[in-house]
Amino acid sequence: MLLEETKLGLNRDGTVYSFLNWASQNFLRAGIASHRLDAEILIADGLKISRTKLMTHPERILDRAEEQMLCSRIERRVLREPVSHITGIQEFWSLEFEVNEKVLTPRPETEILIEQCLKALRKTPAPVRILDLGTGSGILPIVLAKEIPQSRLTAIEKSALEIARKNATHHAVTDQIRFVSGDLMKIDWQGPYHLIVSNPPYIESENLLTCMPEVRQYEPVLALDGGEDGLDYYRYIVPMAWEQLEKNGWLVLEIGHNQASAVVDIFADCSHYQDIQVIQDYSGYDRVVLARTMNG
Ligand code: GLN
Repeated sequence: MLLEETKLGLNRDGTVYSFLNWASQNFLRAGIASHRLDAEILIADGLKISRTKLMTHPERILDRAEEQMLCSRIERRVLREPVSHITGIQEFWSLEFEVNEKVLTPRPETEILIEQCLKALRKTPAPVRILDLGTGSGILPIVLAKEIPQSRLTAIEKSALEIARKNATHHAVTDQIRFVSGDLMKIDWQGPYHLIVSNPPYIESENLLTCMPEVRQYEPVLALDGGEDGLDYYRYIVPMAWEQLEKNGWLVLEIGHNQASAVVDIFADCSHYQDIQVIQDYSGYDRVVLARTMNG
């Protein structure tokens, strides 16, 4: 039995409130830190109501079908399937994106990457041309397209582009984005661009085995595995990008929290970049390295 049916004080009495407490308790038992929040999100989404409505109507009685549907969601989460895979949705930059097991679920810290791109492009005259390498669910080109309506984007992805295309359609930016299917290490990037952005795979292969179960069991290895030391993609992208950039063009890359000095060295070794900067995320971890190509 995966789910604890009766625990002192946690008997379900048919109300959504007692179900919420029970679900949260099961998540806690499964070692999930965000147990209460996850229970609220999964129940509200399952009932197609807002979290506010869930909290303001705790006395709502669940019918049998609702209870069964919610129990199956709770069971999936107890097995550490990510909340985003159960709901099929992840919020990023205050927008909703469809996700599944084929794409990396957007992380909040990746919003720093967007902020840095917008800052770098502030003075670039329209139409701004941008390339995203390894687009996954499409969050980077879609948010940039919405934030810079005059921009033209290219998004390269090795695995299926279906979800990214759906998200672009949902956010009405298909006219601005050209999706290209292929391995970024093999195909032509079709430059020049004013900015190249990427959140490449950067986990050390060995560490993939010790990641949280949500990541290890449910997220695509292709989007995470950065090779033995996690730096394979930086070694390819950095020396390749300057030739695909305009003069004074920007390369903006997400990094793992312990990779800043190694990635800065890769930029410096290339000798075609200036103004190399490391930017921290809101938790204080190094998260982005960016630099401009030389002007001449
Ligand atoms: N930030 C992700 C994680 O820690 C990794 C993303 C990546 O490899 N680009 O799970």
